[in-house]
Amino acid sequence: MLTVNEIFHSIQGESRRAGEPCVFVRLTACDLRCSWCDTPYAFHEGKKRSIDDVIAEVERFECPLVEITGGEPLLQEDVYPLMEQLLARGFTVMIETGGHRPISRVPGDVLKIVDVKCPGSGEAHRNHWETLDVIGSRDEVKFVIKDREDYEYARDVVARYGLSGKAGAILFSPVHGVLDARELSEWVLADRLAVRLQLQLHKFIWSPETRGV
Ligand code: SF4
Repeated sequence: MLTVNEIFHSIQGESRRAGEPCVFVRLTACDLRCSWCDTPYAFHEGKKRSIDDVIAEVERFECPLVEITGGEPLLQEDVYPLMEQLLARGFTVMIETGGHRPISRVPGDVLKIVDVKCPGSGEAHRNHWETLDVIGSRDEVKFVIKDREDYEYARDVVARYGLSGKAGAILFSPVHGVLDARELSEWVLADRLAVRLQLQLHKFIWSPETRGV
């Protein structure tokens, strides 16, 4: 069984698949409390559902791309068979997980987006650095950046772990409504960083507070 916060069909707002239709499976619970978290409703709200029930709802959207997110999706043991069964049915499966959780049990065919927490989140001390040693070209590493201190932290992590040479993408995402995307862009350009500026598309298409998009 899984505790599921919501399942919805929307436009993928982030990652290299940004702009594509995608089904999101948001699992309940998180063991972090990022200062800028935009899904605190996923901390506790949710219903117990079987894997078969979750897959049946995903299939109703007739969409080949599925992202499992949270909360922190790797907290629930049944997320592993869910990923396996979605892959077996031919879906392209993505998972977004915090940089504090080991990813070694995530199936190799799942596209992993690992969120490294910057100081502004209040959770940087929880980063599990060994995860960055096993990042591959199918994976993406994401930094949510609140201010200049976060930017410099992210820039240093990218260099220290050689992420430009091994990750499929390095995403620098400004905290929506807090850090101006233009300012972040100018820092990236000035430092000649090989990273991808990421805006959360769904917050521009719908209002930032809209749930289920
Ligand atoms: S890891 Fe994600 S869900 Fe958990 S507190 Fe941070 S932003 Fe929110």
